[in-house]
Amino acid sequence: MNLLAYRNGPLFKRLFRKAAPLLKEQHERVGRKLNFMEVCGTHTVAFSKTGVRDLLAPYVNLISGPGCPVCVTDQSDIDQMIAYAKCEDVIVTTFGDMMKVPGTKSNLYQERANGADIRIVHAPSQALEIAKDNPGKRVVFLGVGFETTAPSIALTLKKAKDQEVDNYYVYAAHKLTPPAVESLLQDSDHKIDGFVLPGHVSVIIGRDGWRGLEKYNVPAVISGFEPIDLLTSVVLLLKEMEKPMRVIQNNYQRNVREFGNERAKHLLGEVFKVHSPSWRGFGKLPESGLTIHSDYEKFDARKNILAVKPKSRVVKGCRCGEIVKGKEGPFDCKLFATACTPDNPLGPCMVSSEGTCSTYYQYERQK
Ligand code: SF4
Repeated sequence: MNLLAYRNGPLFKRLFRKAAPLLKEQHERVGRKLNFMEVCGTHTVAFSKTGVRDLLAPYVNLISGPGCPVCVTDQSDIDQMIAYAKCEDVIVTTFGDMMKVPGTKSNLYQERANGADIRIVHAPSQALEIAKDNPGKRVVFLGVGFETTAPSIALTLKKAKDQEVDNYYVYAAHKLTPPAVESLLQDSDHKIDGFVLPGHVSVIIGRDGWRGLEKYNVPAVISGFEPIDLLTSVVLLLKEMEKPMRVIQNNYQRNVREFGNERAKHLLGEVFKVHSPSWRGFGKLPESGLTIHSDYEKFDARKNILAVKPKSRVVKGCRCGEIVKGKEGPFDCKLFATACTPDNPLGPCMVSSEGTCSTYYQYERQK
Protein backbone atom coordinates (compact mmCIF):
# COMPACT_ATOMS: atom_id res chain seq x y z
CA MET A 1 0.00 0.00 0.00
CA ASN A 2 1.23 3.53 -0.64
CA LEU A 3 1.11 6.09 2.16
CA LEU A 4 -2.24 7.56 1.11
CA ALA A 5 -3.84 4.14 1.41
CA TYR A 6 -3.20 4.31 5.17
CA ARG A 7 -5.41 7.43 5.25
CA ASN A 8 -8.21 5.93 3.17
CA GLY A 9 -11.47 6.96 4.88
CA PRO A 10 -13.81 4.22 3.56
CA LEU A 11 -11.20 1.53 4.34
CA PHE A 12 -10.75 2.95 7.83
CA LYS A 13 -14.52 2.83 8.41
CA ARG A 14 -14.70 -0.78 7.29
CA LEU A 15 -11.80 -1.73 9.56
CA PHE A 16 -13.34 0.10 12.47
CA ARG A 17 -16.66 -1.70 11.98
CA LYS A 18 -14.75 -4.98 12.13
CA ALA A 19 -12.77 -3.86 15.20
CA ALA A 20 -15.77 -2.63 17.20
CA PRO A 21 -17.01 -6.08 18.40
CA LEU A 22 -13.46 -7.00 19.46
CA LEU A 23 -13.09 -3.74 21.39
CA LYS A 24 -16.45 -4.31 23.10
CA GLU A 25 -15.63 -7.92 23.91
CA GLN A 26 -12.23 -7.15 25.51
CA HIS A 27 -13.71 -4.18 27.36
CA GLU A 28 -16.40 -6.43 28.84
CA ARG A 29 -13.98 -9.24 29.60
CA VAL A 30 -11.62 -6.95 31.52
CA GLY A 31 -14.53 -5.10 33.14
CA ARG A 32 -13.07 -1.64 32.60
CA LYS A 33 -11.60 0.49 29.88
CA LEU A 34 -8.37 -0.92 28.49
CA ASN A 35 -5.23 1.10 29.23
CA PHE A 36 -2.99 1.29 26.19
CA MET A 37 0.09 3.48 26.33
CA GLU A 38 1.28 5.32 23.24
CA VAL A 39 4.97 5.57 24.11
CA CYS A 40 5.87 8.10 21.44
CA GLY A 41 4.97 11.80 21.34
CA THR A 42 4.33 11.58 17.60
CA HIS A 43 1.70 8.93 18.33
CA THR A 44 0.14 11.14 21.01
CA VAL A 45 -0.32 13.84 18.38
CA ALA A 46 -1.48 11.34 15.71
CA PHE A 47 -4.15 9.74 17.93
CA SER A 48 -5.58 13.17 18.76
CA LYS A 49 -5.21 14.83 15.38
CA THR A 50 -6.82 11.98 13.44
CA GLY A 51 -9.72 11.57 15.88
CA VAL A 52 -8.80 7.91 16.51
CA ARG A 53 -8.45 8.68 20.23
CA ASP A 54 -12.10 9.83 20.32
CA LEU A 55 -13.34 6.80 18.38
CA LEU A 56 -11.65 4.41 20.79
CA ALA A 57 -12.58 6.38 23.91
CA PRO A 58 -15.63 4.27 24.93
CA TYR A 59 -13.34 1.25 25.28
CA VAL A 60 -9.74 2.43 25.55
CA ASN A 61 -7.81 4.97 27.62
CA LEU A 62 -4.87 6.03 25.54
CA ILE A 63 -2.14 7.09 27.96
CA SER A 64 0.87 9.10 26.85
CA GLY A 65 4.28 7.72 27.74
CA PRO A 66 7.92 8.79 27.93
CA GLY A 67 8.39 9.36 24.20
CA CYS A 68 8.87 13.10 23.95
CA PRO A 69 12.63 13.75 24.14
CA VAL A 70 12.38 17.32 25.39
CA CYS A 71 9.88 16.27 28.08
CA VAL A 72 12.06 13.54 29.59
CA THR A 73 15.23 15.62 29.63
CA ASP A 74 16.14 16.13 33.25
CA GLN A 75 15.87 19.62 34.73
CA SER A 76 19.59 19.58 35.60
CA ASP A 77 20.44 18.98 31.91
CA ILE A 78 18.26 21.92 30.87
CA ASP A 79 20.04 24.12 33.43
CA GLN A 80 23.43 22.92 32.22
CA MET A 81 22.54 23.82 28.62
CA ILE A 82 21.48 27.30 29.72
CA ALA A 83 24.75 27.62 31.65
CA TYR A 84 26.68 26.94 28.43
CA ALA A 85 24.77 29.74 26.73
CA LYS A 86 26.03 32.17 29.36
CA CYS A 87 29.70 31.47 28.51
CA GLU A 88 31.05 34.39 26.48
CA ASP A 89 33.08 32.43 23.94
CA VAL A 90 30.40 29.78 23.37
CA ILE A 91 27.83 29.57 20.58
CA VAL A 92 24.99 27.26 21.58
CA THR A 93 23.23 25.45 18.73
CA THR A 94 19.98 23.59 19.22
CA PHE A 95 16.73 22.42 17.69
CA GLY A 96 13.95 25.02 18.09
CA ASP A 97 12.00 22.90 20.59
CA MET A 98 14.62 23.51 23.26
CA MET A 99 14.38 27.30 23.19
CA LYS A 100 11.31 27.69 25.39
CA VAL A 101 11.96 24.86 27.85
CA PRO A 102 11.98 26.45 31.29
CA GLY A 103 15.21 26.15 33.23
CA THR A 104 15.35 26.90 36.91
CA LYS A 105 16.04 30.60 36.32
CA SER A 106 15.48 31.33 32.61
CA ASN A 107 15.22 29.71 29.20
CA LEU A 108 17.31 29.88 26.04
CA TYR A 109 15.08 32.56 24.46
CA GLN A 110 15.62 34.79 27.48
CA GLU A 111 19.35 34.16 27.39
CA ARG A 112 19.42 35.06 23.70
CA ALA A 113 17.53 38.29 24.44
CA ASN A 114 20.20 38.99 27.07
CA GLY A 115 22.91 38.74 24.43
CA ALA A 116 23.89 35.07 24.38
CA ASP A 117 24.79 33.63 20.96
CA ILE A 118 22.21 30.84 20.53
CA ARG A 119 21.36 29.58 17.07
CA ILE A 120 18.50 27.31 16.03
CA VAL A 121 19.53 24.60 13.60
CA HIS A 122 17.43 22.11 11.66
CA ALA A 123 20.13 19.46 11.51
CA PRO A 124 23.25 18.76 13.60
CA SER A 125 25.37 19.14 10.44
CA GLN A 126 24.54 22.88 10.53
CA ALA A 127 26.07 23.09 14.01
CA LEU A 128 29.30 21.61 12.67
CA GLU A 129 29.31 24.18 9.84
CA ILE A 130 28.82 26.99 12.38
CA ALA A 131 31.88 25.67 14.25
CA LYS A 132 33.97 25.71 11.07
CA ASP A 133 32.82 29.26 10.27
CA ASN A 134 33.66 30.51 13.79
CA PRO A 135 37.13 29.22 14.67
CA GLY A 136 37.49 31.68 17.57
CA LYS A 137 34.40 30.34 19.32
CA ARG A 138 33.49 27.06 20.98
CA VAL A 139 30.29 25.70 19.43
CA VAL A 140 28.12 23.40 21.55
CA PHE A 141 25.30 21.33 20.08
CA LEU A 142 22.63 20.25 22.58
CA GLY A 143 22.15 16.56 21.87
CA VAL A 144 18.63 15.81 23.03
CA GLY A 145 16.67 12.95 21.54
CA PHE A 146 16.21 9.20 21.28
CA GLU A 147 17.73 6.51 19.08
CA THR A 148 16.25 8.35 16.08
CA THR A 149 18.29 11.56 16.28
CA ALA A 150 21.47 10.18 17.81
CA PRO A 151 22.92 8.75 14.53
CA SER A 152 22.94 12.14 12.76
CA ILE A 153 24.74 13.66 15.76
CA ALA A 154 27.19 10.75 15.79
CA LEU A 155 27.92 11.49 12.15
CA THR A 156 28.87 15.11 12.94
CA LEU A 157 31.30 13.85 15.59
CA LYS A 158 32.92 11.48 13.12
CA LYS A 159 33.21 14.30 10.57
CA ALA A 160 34.60 16.69 13.19
CA LYS A 161 37.27 14.10 14.01
CA ASP A 162 38.10 13.38 10.36
CA GLN A 163 38.22 17.08 9.48
CA GLU A 164 40.15 17.99 12.66
CA VAL A 165 37.60 20.55 13.80
CA ASP A 166 38.73 21.51 17.28
CA ASN A 167 35.94 23.86 18.41
CA TYR A 168 32.87 21.62 18.04
CA TYR A 169 31.31 20.01 21.14
CA VAL A 170 28.22 17.95 21.85
CA TYR A 171 26.34 17.94 25.13
CA ALA A 172 25.02 14.38 24.91
CA ALA A 173 21.67 13.94 26.66
CA HIS A 174 20.41 11.15 24.41
CA LYS A 175 18.00 8.63 25.84
CA LEU A 176 17.24 5.01 24.93
CA THR A 177 13.55 4.17 24.84
CA PRO A 178 13.29 0.46 25.79
CA PRO A 179 14.77 0.90 29.31
CA ALA A 180 12.13 3.55 30.10
CA VAL A 181 9.30 1.27 28.95
CA GLU A 182 10.84 -1.58 30.92
CA SER A 183 10.99 0.55 34.06
CA LEU A 184 7.23 1.17 33.74
CA LEU A 185 6.66 -2.59 33.60
CA GLN A 186 8.86 -3.14 36.66
CA ASP A 187 6.39 -1.08 38.68
CA SER A 188 4.19 -3.77 40.22
CA ASP A 189 1.28 -1.28 40.37
CA HIS A 190 1.27 -0.59 36.65
CA LYS A 191 -2.09 -0.83 34.93
CA ILE A 192 -0.94 -0.86 31.33
CA ASP A 193 -2.68 -3.48 29.17
CA GLY A 194 -0.57 -2.86 26.08
CA PHE A 195 1.95 -0.60 24.39
CA VAL A 196 1.88 1.13 21.03
CA LEU A 197 5.63 1.27 20.40
CA PRO A 198 7.36 4.09 18.50
CA GLY A 199 7.78 3.58 14.77
CA HIS A 200 10.69 5.98 14.29
CA VAL A 201 12.80 4.57 17.11
CA SER A 202 12.07 1.06 15.81
CA VAL A 203 13.43 1.97 12.36
CA ILE A 204 16.82 2.21 14.10
CA ILE A 205 16.62 -0.57 16.73
CA GLY A 206 14.29 -2.97 14.87
CA ARG A 207 11.76 -5.33 16.42
CA ASP A 208 14.75 -7.02 18.00
CA GLY A 209 15.49 -3.91 20.07
CA TRP A 210 12.24 -4.43 21.99
CA ARG A 211 12.51 -8.18 22.61
CA GLY A 212 13.70 -7.56 26.20
CA LEU A 213 10.12 -6.53 27.03
CA GLU A 214 8.70 -9.95 26.15
CA LYS A 215 9.53 -11.40 29.56
CA TYR A 216 6.82 -9.14 31.04
CA ASN A 217 4.25 -10.76 28.71
CA VAL A 218 2.40 -7.49 28.08
CA PRO A 219 1.14 -6.94 24.51
CA ALA A 220 3.24 -4.48 22.50
CA VAL A 221 2.97 -3.43 18.86
CA ILE A 222 5.34 -1.30 16.77
CA SER A 223 3.16 1.14 14.88
CA GLY A 224 3.20 3.67 12.08
CA PHE A 225 1.45 7.01 12.35
CA GLU A 226 -1.41 7.03 9.85
CA PRO A 227 -5.03 6.44 10.93
CA ILE A 228 -5.08 2.87 9.60
CA ASP A 229 -1.73 2.15 11.27
CA LEU A 230 -3.12 3.36 14.59
CA LEU A 231 -6.34 1.38 14.34
CA THR A 232 -4.74 -1.86 13.18
CA SER A 233 -2.12 -1.57 15.93
CA VAL A 234 -4.85 -1.33 18.54
CA VAL A 235 -6.59 -4.35 16.98
CA LEU A 236 -3.30 -6.27 17.16
CA LEU A 237 -3.03 -5.37 20.86
CA LEU A 238 -6.55 -6.72 21.42
CA LYS A 239 -5.64 -9.96 19.65
CA GLU A 240 -2.39 -10.28 21.60
CA MET A 241 -4.37 -9.93 24.84
CA GLU A 242 -6.10 -13.18 23.99
CA LYS A 243 -2.82 -15.12 23.72
CA PRO A 244 -1.15 -16.72 26.73
CA MET A 245 2.35 -15.75 25.51
CA ARG A 246 2.84 -12.38 23.83
CA VAL A 247 5.63 -11.40 21.46
CA ILE A 248 6.50 -7.96 20.07
CA GLN A 249 4.43 -7.37 16.94
CA ASN A 250 5.67 -5.28 14.04
CA ASN A 251 2.79 -3.37 12.45
CA TYR A 252 5.15 -0.96 10.65
CA GLN A 253 6.84 -3.44 8.36
CA ARG A 254 7.07 -0.96 5.52
CA ASN A 255 9.81 0.82 7.49
CA VAL A 256 10.91 -1.39 10.39
CA ARG A 257 13.12 -4.43 9.89
CA GLU A 258 13.79 -7.19 12.37
CA PHE A 259 17.23 -5.85 13.35
CA GLY A 260 16.67 -2.20 12.43
CA ASN A 261 19.31 -0.12 10.73
CA GLU A 262 22.62 -1.93 11.22
CA ARG A 263 24.73 0.96 9.90
CA ALA A 264 23.12 3.45 12.28
CA LYS A 265 23.54 1.05 15.21
CA HIS A 266 27.20 0.51 14.32
CA LEU A 267 27.74 4.28 14.16
CA LEU A 268 26.10 4.75 17.57
CA GLY A 269 28.32 2.02 19.02
CA GLU A 270 31.44 3.68 17.64
CA VAL A 271 30.78 7.25 18.81
CA PHE A 272 28.73 6.79 21.97
CA LYS A 273 28.67 4.46 24.91
CA VAL A 274 25.70 3.45 27.03
CA HIS A 275 25.40 5.06 30.46
CA SER A 276 22.78 5.56 33.16
CA PRO A 277 21.41 9.12 33.02
CA SER A 278 18.64 10.80 34.99
CA TRP A 279 15.27 11.20 33.31
CA ARG A 280 12.62 13.70 34.32
CA GLY A 281 10.13 11.85 36.48
CA PHE A 282 12.01 8.54 36.47
CA GLY A 283 15.30 9.59 38.07
CA LYS A 284 18.39 7.57 37.22
CA LEU A 285 17.60 4.65 34.88
CA PRO A 286 20.24 1.95 34.32
CA GLU A 287 21.76 1.82 30.83
CA SER A 288 19.17 4.19 29.41
CA GLY A 289 21.24 6.82 27.66
CA LEU A 290 24.18 7.54 25.38
CA THR A 291 27.25 9.52 26.33
CA ILE A 292 30.30 10.27 24.20
CA HIS A 293 32.84 7.45 23.83
CA SER A 294 36.35 8.09 25.14
CA ASP A 295 37.71 8.02 21.55
CA TYR A 296 35.70 11.19 20.93
CA GLU A 297 36.04 12.86 24.32
CA LYS A 298 37.73 15.98 22.93
CA PHE A 299 34.26 16.82 21.52
CA ASP A 300 32.44 16.14 24.79
CA ALA A 301 31.06 19.41 26.17
CA ARG A 302 30.69 17.86 29.63
CA LYS A 303 34.41 17.13 29.77
CA ASN A 304 35.77 20.23 28.08
CA ILE A 305 33.60 23.23 28.91
CA LEU A 306 33.17 24.34 32.47
CA ALA A 307 29.86 26.16 33.00
CA VAL A 308 28.41 26.31 36.48
CA LYS A 309 24.65 25.82 36.66
CA PRO A 310 22.28 26.79 39.47
CA LYS A 311 20.76 24.21 41.80
CA SER A 312 17.91 22.76 39.75
CA ARG A 313 14.26 22.81 40.67
CA VAL A 314 11.06 22.43 38.63
CA VAL A 315 8.14 24.86 38.64
CA LYS A 316 5.93 24.24 41.66
CA GLY A 317 2.80 22.39 40.58
CA CYS A 318 4.13 21.18 37.20
CA ARG A 319 3.20 17.48 36.78
CA CYS A 320 5.46 16.70 33.78
CA GLY A 321 7.42 14.19 35.87
CA GLU A 322 4.26 12.11 36.42
CA ILE A 323 2.87 12.70 32.93
CA VAL A 324 5.93 11.19 31.19
CA LYS A 325 5.41 8.03 33.26
CA GLY A 326 1.73 7.87 32.31
CA LYS A 327 0.70 8.19 35.96
CA GLU A 328 -1.16 11.45 35.35
CA GLY A 329 -2.48 13.40 32.39
CA PRO A 330 -2.55 17.11 31.55
CA PHE A 331 -5.99 17.56 33.12
CA ASP A 332 -4.51 16.51 36.48
CA CYS A 333 -2.30 19.60 36.47
CA LYS A 334 -3.92 22.68 38.00
CA LEU A 335 -1.73 24.90 35.83
CA PHE A 336 -2.92 23.35 32.54
CA ALA A 337 -4.47 25.96 30.22
CA THR A 338 -4.53 28.52 33.04
CA ALA A 339 -1.04 29.61 34.06
CA CYS A 340 0.57 27.18 31.60
CA THR A 341 -0.14 27.57 27.87
CA PRO A 342 1.94 27.13 24.70
CA ASP A 343 2.68 30.89 24.77
CA ASN A 344 3.76 30.71 28.39
CA PRO A 345 4.87 27.12 29.04
CA LEU A 346 5.80 26.27 32.60
CA GLY A 347 6.99 22.74 31.86
CA PRO A 348 8.53 20.88 28.91
CA CYS A 349 5.33 18.91 28.18
CA MET A 350 3.74 22.20 27.09
CA VAL A 351 6.76 23.35 25.09
CA SER A 352 7.41 20.55 22.68
CA SER A 353 5.01 20.14 19.77
CA GLU A 354 4.94 16.45 20.74
CA GLY A 355 4.54 17.08 24.46
CA THR A 356 1.39 15.65 26.01
CA CYS A 357 0.23 18.97 27.49
CA SER A 358 0.78 20.81 24.25
CA THR A 359 -1.12 18.12 22.31
CA TYR A 360 -4.02 18.13 24.79
CA TYR A 361 -4.09 21.94 24.75
CA GLN A 362 -4.43 21.88 20.99
CA TYR A 363 -6.81 18.96 20.48
CA GLU A 364 -8.42 17.71 23.70
CA ARG A 365 -9.29 20.55 26.04
CA GLN A 366 -12.62 21.75 24.65
CA LYS A 367 -14.49 18.45 24.56
FE1 SF4 B 1 3.80 21.11 33.47
FE2 SF4 B 1 2.30 22.91 32.18
FE3 SF4 B 1 1.88 20.36 31.74
FE4 SF4 B 1 1.22 21.42 34.05
S1 SF4 B 1 0.31 21.91 32.08
S2 SF4 B 1 2.27 19.50 33.73
S3 SF4 B 1 2.83 22.97 34.32
S4 SF4 B 1 3.74 21.51 31.27
